[in-house]
Amino acid sequence: MAEKIGFVSLGCPKNQVDAERMLAQLTAAGMEIVDHLTDPADAVIVNTCCFIDAAKQESIDAVLEAADLKAEGSVRKIIVVGCMAQKYRDEILETLPEADVVVGISAVADIVSVVRGEESAPDEEPAAPNAAPEALPLTGARLLTTPSHWAYLKIADGCSNRCAYCSIPSIRGDFRSVPLEDALAEAQSLVDGGVRELILIAQDTTSYGLDLYGELRLPELLTALCKIEDLRWIRVLYCYPDRVTPELLAVMASEPKILHYIDMPLQHINDSVLAAMHRRGTATQIRQTLADIRAALPDVVLRTTFITGLPGEDESAFEELHNFIKEQQFERLGVFAYSPQEGTPAADMPDQVDAEIAGARLDILMRAQNDIARERAEAFIGRTLEVICEDYDGYTDTNIGRCYADAPEIDGLVYFPGQAEDGQFYQVKILGVSEDGYDLVGTMNN
Ligand code: SF4
Repeated sequence: MAEKIGFVSLGCPKNQVDAERMLAQLTAAGMEIVDHLTDPADAVIVNTCCFIDAAKQESIDAVLEAADLKAEGSVRKIIVVGCMAQKYRDEILETLPEADVVVGISAVADIVSVVRGEESAPDEEPAAPNAAPEALPLTGARLLTTPSHWAYLKIADGCSNRCAYCSIPSIRGDFRSVPLEDALAEAQSLVDGGVRELILIAQDTTSYGLDLYGELRLPELLTALCKIEDLRWIRVLYCYPDRVTPELLAVMASEPKILHYIDMPLQHINDSVLAAMHRRGTATQIRQTLADIRAALPDVVLRTTFITGLPGEDESAFEELHNFIKEQQFERLGVFAYSPQEGTPAADMPDQVDAEIAGARLDILMRAQNDIARERAEAFIGRTLEVICEDYDGYTDTNIGRCYADAPEIDGLVYFPGQAEDGQFYQVKILGVSEDGYDLVGTMNN
């Protein structure tokens, strides 16, 4: 009888790719993936995240939810893996007795033996090696959790940037690029499986190759990916400003498959706050990079994120950030309120900012962005855009899709009527924007 496994994956797309690798191993070993909220499960795997406090709480809640089902007898074992298990293994074992097995990100190397208990009791060293991140595989078969027409391509893991507020390097180790030929082989197999949009991810995609080849190789990887015949769209997330080079912009401008979409977290614009964050680059350099991007890609959609309330961020530094957002008019923008993470330099810095102030600053920025986002969306009216169909809403008889400006799971959507098939591309003339100003409405122009 096949083992029945429930699986919860939390956090970022990089963690999601790890989940897909674990799911592929489990099914290859003959296990059945079930919805443990409705069906009995021999084990539930919770792939955790601990980037910020809210993510930690979400992970703990998922374990406790599984624990309730275990108490009812419909779940036999709870296995906690992923970033929070990597950083807080001992604390989880101590404070969450509901967890039977806690193995860090090394679980991705051999999840089957973790599930089958080829390790000893919880308080002894697990058999599956809680290996150092640097020893972990960067590739492997995947069972996609995304719709079959798009997928993430993780081109590296870990990070060597060492931003002062971030615990990821201490969890995932130094930056490690996937060898070019392996990344291309994975991309080809995804496209052979029906993927038409590839979304490149890493903690910092623009550092691709630096560790392995001693130089930045993202432009070369992108050029090679464009040669994959049936691949239609390539999207790049998580760029670091000072590594958005003229070479990268030249490839993005010349290769039609590469979407004019750049996700580039800036985190702040005030020079003292940037320095306190241990971020490379000054306000002047960041402005120059933004100007270079808009010059090279006039129709570019820029997504960025900022952090409010880092220790030392005073009213004038915050006002500088507020004005910067109004000055730059980003198409897409997210804001996080700073939450101190143990073991990071920022957690021990003086002049900690009250969480309420950090939250209030976040609200101010998002209110400013609401108007900007609407204006940016209205600028699409009258344009005909290529749209990938993702879904159909029978209630409104409307297709739901995305254009180049929309990364899945974080950005807006395009609504259009007519006969359309999921995963297919359509020319859609934009006629208007939705009430909240984030989505587009159009008509097929095929
Ligand atoms: S770039 Fe900075 S914020 Fe991003 S993962 Fe690396 S250290 Fe963390």
